[in-house]
Amino acid sequence: MPDVVETRNVETRNSVAATPVSKVVMQKSLKSSIGCTGIGLHSGKKVTMSLNPAAPDTGIIFHRTDPEGDVHIIPARWDYVVDTRMATTIGNQSGASVSTIEHLMAALAGCGIDNAIIEIDGAEVPVMDGSAAPFIFLVECAGMIDQNAPRKAIKIERAIEVGDSEKFMSATPDESFSVAFEVDFEDTAVARQQLSMRLVNGTFKTEIARARTFGFVHEVDALRKAGLALGGSLDNAVVISGDTILNGDGLRYDDEFVRHKILDCVGDLYLAGAPIIGQIDALRSGHALNNQFLISLFADDTAWSYVEMSSASVPGVSHSRDQESELAIA
Ligand SMILES: [Zn+2]
Repeated sequence: MPDVVETRNVETRNSVAATPVSKVVMQKSLKSSIGCTGIGLHSGKKVTMSLNPAAPDTGIIFHRTDPEGDVHIIPARWDYVVDTRMATTIGNQSGASVSTIEHLMAALAGCGIDNAIIEIDGAEVPVMDGSAAPFIFLVECAGMIDQNAPRKAIKIERAIEVGDSEKFMSATPDESFSVAFEVDFEDTAVARQQLSMRLVNGTFKTEIARARTFGFVHEVDALRKAGLALGGSLDNAVVISGDTILNGDGLRYDDEFVRHKILDCVGDLYLAGAPIIGQIDALRSGHALNNQFLISLFADDTAWSYVEMSSASVPGVSHSRDQESELAIA
């Protein structure tokens, strides 16, 4: 008889371990302020930027600290996007703007930072090495804190799509955030690349964050005449000429281009104001279509709803204390 009792106890413990109780995920901000200096990819201008803690429900806010413009606050939200030509630019009614925010936004999304004030003394976020990795390094150096408010997410409730057969972005309901992206360029060094990634439990940092922005030699003259890519160089972009990569060190990932497009997509979609729970599929999408997707999503109340995030929304995440911190770096 004692053997039977013992067996039942073991079974009970196992079944509890295999069915974790969901735990409310709290909003996060930075533990302290941290700064960096660099040049803008398109402006070529030197800027100083700092990432600062902010109260719960603040969201991500940019604050231009230089004197230009009357009002210096610009919320990092889809409805403040004013330009999507080669980069994502947000601006306010007073004409103050900040451009090329997408790689920083991707890092904040990847780290699970809900609330931060980004102070910047110029009109373009520094490009750093062309990826999101330096911004993740800054966030990790500053540290992250849980705040006294539950984290909200935007749950996709029904399928929605923008674009056409040549380029599109769609979302369908799912239990976590994943992105499937396909690029197709004439330059043979890029050609067709496709990647699908479930962005949970550290995959943004390890699989996407280091992918750099890229450009084509044959486009450089036209871009510079248009006042773009003035700060671009082999130090902050992968440069492609036909079937050749001009960077001496080559690529960081074999399919670095599609990974960078996923990075841009994660950054642009974080302008939703909260993480998205759903499956994103994209073909040849870029900043303009990424923003169009959010405009269409928020125009249709039946396509989404706010939900409180729980650790149960993230498959594969266990509930030990050590792994809770991993959840933050999605
Ligand atoms: Zn980019």
